[in-house]
Amino acid sequence: MGSWYRDGVAFRCKGPECGDCCSGKAGPGAVWVNDTEIAALAAFLGLSPQEFTLRHVRSLSGHLSLRERPNNDCEFYVAGKGCSVYDARPTQCRTYPFWSKVMAAKRRWEEEAAACPGIGEPGAIVPASEVESVLERDRERFPEGRPPLP
Ligand code: SF4
Ligand code: SF4
Repeated sequence: MGSWYRDGVAFRCKGPECGDCCSGKAGPGAVWVNDTEIAALAAFLGLSPQEFTLRHVRSLSGHLSLRERPNNDCEFYVAGKGCSVYDARPTQCRTYPFWSKVMAAKRRWEEEAAACPGIGEPGAIVPASEVESVLERDRERFPEGRPPLP
């Protein structure tokens, strides 16, 4: 378990009224998807995986990502309401901000607060065991780390 967060970390998601991790506010990004995640999203929308891929997936750095709108919002983000595919959202959306690269060092976690206003929320302590459990899911999904952005 990472020693710097053994006493837990202050975080509470501010929910749909924030949505900064889904919007293009911080510039272009990637929502990486694999076959399993594509199948779940396709089923949620009543599409075949092939149709879903044609409509909503792009190739980025040799990997697959959901498409963004011209303003860099995720295609499934609805301003003020949040994710329109919430129950089928990909792993990286479920595990943020407890990503390996974010939790690697306290300094990195503190820097991430610039992108996520829920980080540092006073009185909202997420215990280390919960952080570790989310991190484990993130590591399982990205055993070699996330692909680089182009
Ligand atoms: S940026 Fe942080 S606080 Fe805002 S919606 Fe995403 S996880 Fe929640
Ligand atoms: S799939 Fe949903 S949770 Fe993930 S980035 Fe897009 S709008 Fe946000």
